Order: sequence, then structure tokens, then C-alpha cells
Amino acid sequence: MTSFASKVFCRVEKVCVHLPVFLNTFLVFSITGEVSYLVVVEAPLEADQKKTVWSSWWKVVHLLAQYFMLGNICWNALLFLRTNPSIKGVFLGGEGMGQGWRYCYTCETHTPPRCSHCYDCKVCILRRDHHCVFFGQCVGFRNYRYFLCCLLFMWSGLLYATVMNAEVFIVILKEGVTVHSVLLLLVPWIMLVSGQVSARAFAFAFIADTCVVGFLLVSAFFFFHLFLLFRGQTTREWYSSRRPYSLGLLGNLRHTLGLCWYLCWLSPLIPSPLPGDGIHFEVTGSLEPAR
Ligand SMILES: [Zn+2]
Ligand SMILES: [Zn+2]
Repeated sequence: MTSFASKVFCRVEKVCVHLPVFLNTFLVFSITGEVSYLVVVEAPLEADQKKTVWSSWWKVVHLLAQYFMLGNICWNALLFLRTNPSIKGVFLGGEGMGQGWRYCYTCETHTPPRCSHCYDCKVCILRRDHHCVFFGQCVGFRNYRYFLCCLLFMWSGLLYATVMNAEVFIVILKEGVTVHSVLLLLVPWIMLVSGQVSARAFAFAFIADTCVVGFLLVSAFFFFHLFLLFRGQTTREWYSSRRPYSLGLLGNLRHTLGLCWYLCWLSPLIPSPLPGDGIHFEVTGSLEPAR
């Protein structure tokens, strides 16, 4: 009975860990589908509200841009999940342990500087930044590039989708700022369940809302990580106000995104080898916290 209960618990835990990934995938594909619909069929505007009619080639340009961003989001996310950021299978070296090395009692091994244990992944992560709950995996030395590029394309994609959805807001607010239109924008689920709006109106309002909220959320994450990238810091080092491994703007870009940092963000398929090994780091500042 106990083993059955523990098996069920393990299954539920596995589903819960992967739930954010399924939810994000669903949202990304729903938004892309809706924006493609807006481009192909054109926005649900009435004839007198339409200022221009898009030509076929202009629609193709829009669709290509959308699928370029979608492809980059999915590919970077896949490589992020498939790249192991942990110390598993990495030869850490038995000698030469110096400043910054620690002992992890859970993994029962000495770990290099900037490495720390993740209690969700249950392993030590090289140059650990944080555990990303949306992916259910840690952001570390080897997968940081894919994480940042995924954020970049999510940010640009949501900015584009928000601009494209401006017409949906125009349609909803066409009747003026009434209780009905405001409730449809703020709580579309309640309006659908209470039978106040059609499923089509709900879908447009829900996706338009998701674009705006998602854009604000992703903007905060993206600009914070750009700030950390330029400063050569991890989130943990930022908390303790330490910047001992900063190599200057160019050095930080090369050590985080790889030797081909100026091109690699265009596609995850562009090779960009990392100059370091995730174990040894050049110390350029004080290892003591600044405050
Ligand atoms: Zn550990
Ligand atoms: Zn983790």
C-alpha cells in the first residue's frame, strides 16, 4: 500500500514538475495561432475601421517573422532542457582546489567556485544562476545561452503579439469603456462561464490579455538578465552584491554566450563554443560581499 502511494506521489510530482512546460508551450502556440489568424484573415475590425488592406507579400513577411521567432523559442527551449548544467559526468579535478571551492554534503564532492546545490534538481550546478520554475530546470554555465536567447525571442514575440492585438482591444472597447468591455478584458473567464460573451470573444480577449501580462513579465526577466550578463554576475552573486568574476563587457559576453556571441543569438544552430570550462574562473574583484 505504501509503495503504491509513493508511486502515485512520484507520478503526481513528475506531472507537476512538467506542468509549467506544457502550459507555456500551449500559450506560445495559442498566441502564434491567434496572431497568424489576425495576419491572414485580418483583425476582427469592421470595414470602416480598417485604414489599410495588407498585400499578400506583406502578410507573408509577417508570417515568416512570426515563425522565425516561434522556431527560435522552441529550439532554444529544447536545447536548454537537453543541455545538462550539472556536475554529473564532469571531471572536477582532484587537485588545485583553492579559493571558492566548497564541499557539498549531498553530492559528497568538492565543488568549484560559482557552483551550488539545487534542491529541486537534487544535484550541484556549475556556475548556477537560478532554478527556472517555468522550465523545471536550473540555469547554469552550459545552458545559459539557450535560456537568454529563449527569453530574447519570447520578449520580441510578445512585443509583436501585443502590437498586433491592439486591434482586438479597439474592437472590445468599440462600445466605449463600459462595465461589459472592462470585465471582458479583466476577467474573460468569468464572462465566458456566466454566458455573457461568446467563446470567440473570450478567446480573443484572453489571448490579448495574456500577451500584455506575458510581455510585462518577460520584459522584467529579460532586462534583469541582460543587466546581469553585462555585469558578469549570476543572480546569486547579485543578491550578495559581489562581482568578483566580471571580465569587462566584451569578456562577459564571450564567457556567457561563447566566442560567437555577436551572431549566436540569431539561431541556436550557430555554434558558439564557450571559452571556459565552468570550473575555473578568473578572479578580478573581491570575493567578500560588498554590503
Ligand atoms: Zn550538491
Ligand atoms: Zn534546479
